[in-house]
Formats: sequence, C-alpha cells, structure tokens
Amino acid sequence: QKATNVRPRVVGSRTEVPLWNGERVRYVNLDSAASTPPLAKVRQVVDEFASWYSSVHRGAGYKSRLSTYLYENARDVVMRFVGTTPRTHVVVFVRNTTEALNLLAHRTLLEEDELVLCTKMEHHSNLLPWLRKPHEVVQLTEDGRVDMDDLKQRLERHKGKVKLVTISAASNVTGLMADIKAVARLVHAHGAKLAVDAAQLTPHRALSMGTPGTADCIDVVAFSGHKLYAPYGAGALVVPATLFADGDPMLVGGGTACLVTSSGVKWATGSDLEEAGSPNVVGVVAMAAALEELMRYGMDQVAKHERELTRYAVRRLRTVPGLRLFGPTWDSMLTGGEDRLGVFCFTIDGQPYEKVAAVLANEWGVGVRSGCFCAHLYVSHLLGVSDEDAADSRERLISGLPVDLPGMVRASLGLANSKSDIDRLVSGLQAITRGEIRAQYEHNEHGDLE
Ligand code: PMP
Repeated sequence: QKATNVRPRVVGSRTEVPLWNGERVRYVNLDSAASTPPLAKVRQVVDEFASWYSSVHRGAGYKSRLSTYLYENARDVVMRFVGTTPRTHVVVFVRNTTEALNLLAHRTLLEEDELVLCTKMEHHSNLLPWLRKPHEVVQLTEDGRVDMDDLKQRLERHKGKVKLVTISAASNVTGLMADIKAVARLVHAHGAKLAVDAAQLTPHRALSMGTPGTADCIDVVAFSGHKLYAPYGAGALVVPATLFADGDPMLVGGGTACLVTSSGVKWATGSDLEEAGSPNVVGVVAMAAALEELMRYGMDQVAKHERELTRYAVRRLRTVPGLRLFGPTWDSMLTGGEDRLGVFCFTIDGQPYEKVAAVLANEWGVGVRSGCFCAHLYVSHLLGVSDEDAADSRERLISGLPVDLPGMVRASLGLANSKSDIDRLVSGLQAITRGEIRAQYEHNEHGDLE
C-alpha cells in the first residue's frame, strides 16, 4: 500500500503516572526495546474482533471460518512485511522470538561433526537454544561489533560443516545493525544457511529476506509482535518451505495430524505441523494489524523519524557529565554515517545503574530498563568484564554468595517518542549527576530498587 504521512498513533502516549511525591506527570516511555504499547489501530481491531473470534481450522460456524480466514491471511501479511511469498516460505506462528528460535534449534538436525555458529552479541534467546547443540560463538571486535574475520575463519575452519549461522539484525544493547547482506554472502559462500533474529530490527527498519537461493538472501527470520506495537503472545518464524520437511515438530497434539489410527499417524505438513493446539488467533490478528499499519505508513518513514530523534538524543546525552554511552560510532551516526537504532546503553560515573533507573521512574516519570538486558556476554564485553571475573561471579552465585552484577541503563526509542521525551530523560540525568535525588530507595522483596 502507498505510504501516507499520518504517523500511526500509539495508545497510552498521554497516560499520566504518579511520582514519589504523589504528583502526576505524563509517562515517558523509553523502553521500546523491551516492548511497545499497541497502535490505536490495533486496539480497534482487537476490540472489533472480540465479538467474532472463534476456533481456527476446527469449527464449521461462520465465526470459525472468519477467524480461520483472518489467521491465514495474517501469514500473507507477515510475508509481505519481510519481503517474501508463500511460494517459497512458510510462516509459523509462535508466542515470541524466543519460541521461534527454540523451534528453529529443535528443528535444526545436525549430522555428526556439523555445527551452528552464533555470536557473542546475541540476546539469550538467540544464544541459549544453540548452546544445547554443537556450536561455536563468533567473537566481537574490541569496540563491540561482530568480528567478520572471526566468522570467516570459523566458516573456513569447519569447511562445509557449518549448517547454520544465526545472528541478530540489530542489537538490543547498542542498537548496532549487522551488515546482513555481507554476512549472508559470507555464510552462503560457505554452504551454510542464515537465520536472523529480527526482534529488534523489524520495529524500526524495513527488512527483506530477498530472493531465496541468492547469495545475499536471509533464509530464516524470527520476530515478536509485542515489540511491533501489538500485544504479547504472538510472534513469527519465517522459514523456507522445505526446511521443516523432515524431522519432528517441537510440540504435537491437536491440528498436527491428518489421521491417527491404531497403527500410526499421518502427520500434517507445513505450519499445521508446527502449531499444535488452539493458536492465539487474537494475538496473530492483532500483530497482522500492526504490520499492515506500519507498512501503510512506510518503514522508511518510521526510520526517518527515529533516526532524527536518535541524533538528537546522542547530542543531548553528551551534555550529561560522567555519562558513558556504550557501543562504537555514535559520532558517525551524528555526521550521517553508519545508521543506528535509538537504543542507548549508558552508565553514569559514581551512580549505580539500577538507582539511575529507579530515580528516572520515581522522580521524573521516565520508564527505562537497567541490568544486562538478557545479553550477559555482550554487556560484559562492553563493560570490559574479563571471562575470569565473570566465571568467578557465576561460582559465587552458585554458592549463594552476594555478587555485584555488572549492568547499564538502557533508554530506547520508538515511534511515539518526541524530542520532549529525550529532554525529560536528560533533565533527570543531569539532576542525578548534581546529586538532586529526592526520594529514598530500597530493595523490595523481588530485589528491585524502589
Ligand atoms: N532477540 C532480541 C534481539 C531481543 O531484543 C529480544 C527481546 N528483548 C528477543 C530476542 C526476545 O524476544 P521475546 O522476549 O519476545 O521472545
């Protein structure tokens, strides 16, 4: 569809929240890298669908047929969103990126001496499933990028034995975007397939899987609806139609068999085989509505808006004394060089990261996240924690001893943010550096600072 200039409206952008002193302020959401609120259009679709949804693939009634139609239509929407078609790919609906990547790992059958490569930059969802398989972890350059030479050397060392390389298209810690086409060419030249964790990239930039079989195509893509302005509980794994032809699905049950007799089972094929049980039809329809709305507006427009905000945020964050912004090339982004997502991980000299996050929430109405962002290897690398120190912390945790876990504060941008949101963040950070902390903070029973 043709792009229009009306930016999709995000629900809750004017919600007021209480501060420590009871005053109420407009909530500033700077945590889009974790989840995004729904688009107004998504809320409308979910509201209307509430009177209509019913079991998909099972009922003969009108509502079931309508639900089945919308559910199946959502596969086409997903395909359009990632630039592919049902002629070559299958969309499997899952709960989220984590489930998508676990399913992919489950379905990745390795012959003796075959292996998978992932990277040290990955979110745990694209790391831990592969640690259960023969694998190697591609190292990072000192400044925190995936080391392409290391990737190449590993592909060469295991000539023809690397079945799959799996990498995130954009980091949830530094907002760095991988040069996916360059990675694809390298991976395919060595006879491997490329899977992309697109959880962070898809809400912010257009992604195209390209023509299957070409050197720079992406073979597999995974993403989550809740980072794409839809509610929780729906995500997609897009795979070549042939990839899951052999082997067992992760779950079996309702919908995964064509015929069950006492002598055996005739299994279903394609997405039916992977989606055991009653699916999340509302979640899937909501996710498709969000994707349609983003496509209507145009991902280039989304990128343009966020790029401008990102540059503004870098300039403003630089004014905060003692603020250390992690990841390379922020300057290059400012001068129109390398593109980056608006994901800012930082520390402030002398201020514990979790306290900074708590003060921003309680005294400034700004929602950020702090910690290691489910990317322990990457955060440790950026903070310069040695492997020995990390191993020592692990031993202490196992023994039940207290550990000061490394961490950072993360502020991340989305479609609904404006310059005034960044101004509020920066005012809060500047006050913190001046020692203007008005409330008392203590750990609650969950260990969070309040
Ligand atoms: N990969 C990346 C890069 C992410 O940022 C996230 C979410 N933080 C995930 C995977 C996991 O997504 P989900 O929690 O929706 O499974």
